[in-house]
Amino acid sequence: MIVDKFEHAGAVLSIDLDALADNWRLLQQRSGAAACAAVVKADAYGLGAGRVAPHLARAGCRAFFVAHLDEALSLRPLLPASCAVYVLHGVPPGAEADCLAGDAIPVLNSLAQVEAWRRLAGTAGRRLPALLQVDTGMARVGLAPAEVRRLATDPALLDGVEIRYVMSHLACAEEQGNPLNRVQLERFSALRELLPASAASLANSSGIFLGPDFHCQLTRPGAALYGVAPVAGQPNPMRPVIRLQGKVVQLREIDARTSVGYGASWVAPAPTRIATVAVGYADGFLRSLSSRASAWYMGVALPLVGKVSMDTITLDVSSLPADALHEGSLVDLINERHTIDRVAELAGTIGYEILTSLGQRYFRRYLGD
Ligand SMILES: *Cc1c(COP(=O)(O)O)cnc(C)c1O
Repeated sequence: MIVDKFEHAGAVLSIDLDALADNWRLLQQRSGAAACAAVVKADAYGLGAGRVAPHLARAGCRAFFVAHLDEALSLRPLLPASCAVYVLHGVPPGAEADCLAGDAIPVLNSLAQVEAWRRLAGTAGRRLPALLQVDTGMARVGLAPAEVRRLATDPALLDGVEIRYVMSHLACAEEQGNPLNRVQLERFSALRELLPASAASLANSSGIFLGPDFHCQLTRPGAALYGVAPVAGQPNPMRPVIRLQGKVVQLREIDARTSVGYGASWVAPAPTRIATVAVGYADGFLRSLSSRASAWYMGVALPLVGKVSMDTITLDVSSLPADALHEGSLVDLINERHTIDRVAELAGTIGYEILTSLGQRYFRRYLGD
């Protein structure tokens, strides 16, 4: 479903493309001599890869990462030929020719993926570009050290594969003091020694802030582009990119001892004015925010009372003047002061999940394009 009229919408998601581009420029600057890519998997963390990626390409970004081949095939035609689109999961078996035809570049994560890409290069009669991922501490995807040694002893296994970057991924980069960061860097250097000389890529958003040793030749930020704080416990240097506003669909006065919402979990201690807002857990406003989050209107906090429903939340708006809100008024749920990270903390999750849960029923307003 596409909500293409503000008047029809229950909520408005504003996405500031200028702030996004500023964030990319800051990350490029912090990446030093390395090139800075943009990770736009999961529809650019829910913000719309079709708008985000071309905007970053205009800002100068030349490398884009998605997770799935189909994400790459949809994105590729929207970007200039000078941009590369890399597929983090690599190619599912049998889809290699489609990947090549679609001008997507796989991250090879296993000896089987290397072998399939090498064979395709043989058929194509030319060297084919790829990234090669080695595992240094995630145990998720990428070649295990023994598999890297296998490639080292039998270099023919890489015939026809042009390795653009050897890459790996950090497990704890947002914790600057975590010893695993250095351990992973050392394992990465050791594994690179075994492979043909090539450029390298290690840092995600948080990894960029671990310093120059982690930058290599290409950095791969995602979350920080979209405004999520890259370093735990430190001020956020990124500009906020999104603002989420919910529309009031009803206002009512309730008596003391009246319960609100499913499970009658909240009971008014006194006469209360309640605003019902058309955003619920089906829109990614997580149910774990029940009785925890607030909305904001003209700087006033409006506590969420009762459970988050599928399509609505209920707010105690008694602290506002009686005529401040009416049906159709917009209240802020996420903004520059009440950030993605703060909402995530209240929900018991991380900013990444708040972003990627953002629903399809919002009227999306792109600013600065
Ligand atoms: C998602 C992802 C990134 C981006 O990570 P952020 O923490 O969002 O910056 C980089 N590299 C890989 C391999 C990823 O899966």
